[in-house]
Amino acid sequence: MNCIFCNIVEHKAHSEILYESENVLSFLDINPVNFGHTLVITKKHYGDFISVPKNELAHVIKAVQTIAGVIKTKLNCDGFNIVINNGIAAGQTVKHFHFHIIPRFHNDDFRFKLNLKKYSDNLMKEYADKIRAELKFEGTF
Ligand code: 5GP
Ligand code: ZN
Repeated sequence: MNCIFCNIVEHKAHSEILYESENVLSFLDINPVNFGHTLVITKKHYGDFISVPKNELAHVIKAVQTIAGVIKTKLNCDGFNIVINNGIAAGQTVKHFHFHIIPRFHNDDFRFKLNLKKYSDNLMKEYADKIRAELKFEGTF
């Protein structure tokens, strides 16, 4: 398997690394939405969000919180988006789990194109029922 993020973890490919620990690596995205757009990844290869073990996810999300705080302060951005794209339909292009931290500025002209739907009649409850039935068996977090 040839994975660009695994190559970055192994220092076989160059990147601007911001942070590295036993489980987590963070580096600048090569094609930023705004300058300072950052990726935070598990060092181990997992294909997507669902397949990351929860203990590893805890390491990554803690790093994301800290790094986002530093980005907010040091780049003086007005806000930031934290994004995970999962699957091709959702825009995932690199199949190695990663968070995006995207610094945002007033009038930066970047928008997620929203085409919002309306639930009709009982449809909202039907969707909720489908999801919560499964969650009952998942226990507490
Ligand atoms: P995805 O679309 O999978 O959510 O995000 C993958 C991200 O990885 C993209 O934003 C893309 O610009 C970034 N990326 C892809 N290849 C490289 C690379 O070789 N180096 C760096 N630093 N970023 C990359
Ligand atoms: Zn990988």
